[in-house]
Amino acid sequence: MPRPILATIHVDSLKHNLALAKAQSPGARAWGVLKANGYGHGLERAMRGFAEADGLALVEVDYAVRLRELGWTKPILLLEGFFDAQDIETMAEHNLQAAVHCNEQLAWLEAAQERLTARGVRFDLHLKMNSGMNRLGFMPQAFAAAHARLSAISCVASITMMTHFANADDTEHPLLPIAEQIRRFEAGTAGLEGARSLSNSAGVLLHQKTLRNDWIRPGIMLYGATPGGATAQQFGLQPAMTLSSEIIGVQEIADGELVGYGSRFQAEGKMRIGVVACGYADGYPRHAPLGTPVLVDGVRTRLIGRVSMDMLTVDLTNLPQAKVGSKVVLWGRGNPIDDVATAAGTIGYELMCALAPRVPVVEG
Ligand SMILES: *Cc1c(COP(=O)(O)O)cnc(C)c1O
Repeated sequence: MPRPILATIHVDSLKHNLALAKAQSPGARAWGVLKANGYGHGLERAMRGFAEADGLALVEVDYAVRLRELGWTKPILLLEGFFDAQDIETMAEHNLQAAVHCNEQLAWLEAAQERLTARGVRFDLHLKMNSGMNRLGFMPQAFAAAHARLSAISCVASITMMTHFANADDTEHPLLPIAEQIRRFEAGTAGLEGARSLSNSAGVLLHQKTLRNDWIRPGIMLYGATPGGATAQQFGLQPAMTLSSEIIGVQEIADGELVGYGSRFQAEGKMRIGVVACGYADGYPRHAPLGTPVLVDGVRTRLIGRVSMDMLTVDLTNLPQAKVGSKVVLWGRGNPIDDVATAAGTIGYELMCALAPRVPVVEG
């Protein structure tokens, strides 16, 4: 038999979570964000899960083309825009929309406009404001000028005004509360007509009443993990990925025995240890500490010892029925990915995106 590790993608949960995002944002259209291979769930599976989305958004130009080849006919948005002038040709060929966040992109468009306009190409573009995150985008005070410059380009059909929040999951952020970013966005877009796109998952789930969006951009919530602010379950989200495996070995050890590399765990009395076929080469975080939750035969127990490349060890002392072949859930249904991520000092996003290529994936 194959090694027992398996990732099960719940396409129905992708659908459920998208419906929830749309229900939170009446009147807005929704991009299904599926960058990074659908946050590790698979591009094609995410595309099917988001069949009811108004468009799909990602950052990889080659994956955008792949979505067209897979038959997606609704809008596709490149969230980081195009990376050189050649990408504009790809956008024209495959009818892709893109963010425009810097002067270099404006210049490439200006240089290409005559040729594209002659061919009848017209782009829907998303002008990005840097409202405080200081990653991509035009400063609020430079936004109107960038908007005017983009509007003057003959192959531009529409301009949506877009920004991204640093702290939508933390309303009381002492340094950059979301209200400050909204204030800067409103100031920078004053007097400009057009559609607006502000909300990521945290915006959708926590600020739907205060944010006016024509297009929302939910990502993580669609995969059933929390963007912060409350648990996924409290938000009504369903996990879309279950990473499971089995116990492949059991050790009965005496008080004081040591477990794993570095002998970091020492038995507190007589213990039963289960060995699980899952390690960091499967995408499980190596830095997950003692106590990280693991489900064995539906019962929550704890990780002990250091995670190795292909295996990890769990405490079976209070699970006398557990044996070789017992089912283990590393994260997903019954063991929220956010709990595992919190224990490991990271976020659900990182765990799901890091699912390793060697893990077989099925749907269920
Ligand atoms: C990834 C991304 C999103 C989605 O963010 P989530 O926190 O996963 O909802 C939205 N907008 C942009 C620009 C992004 O890059």
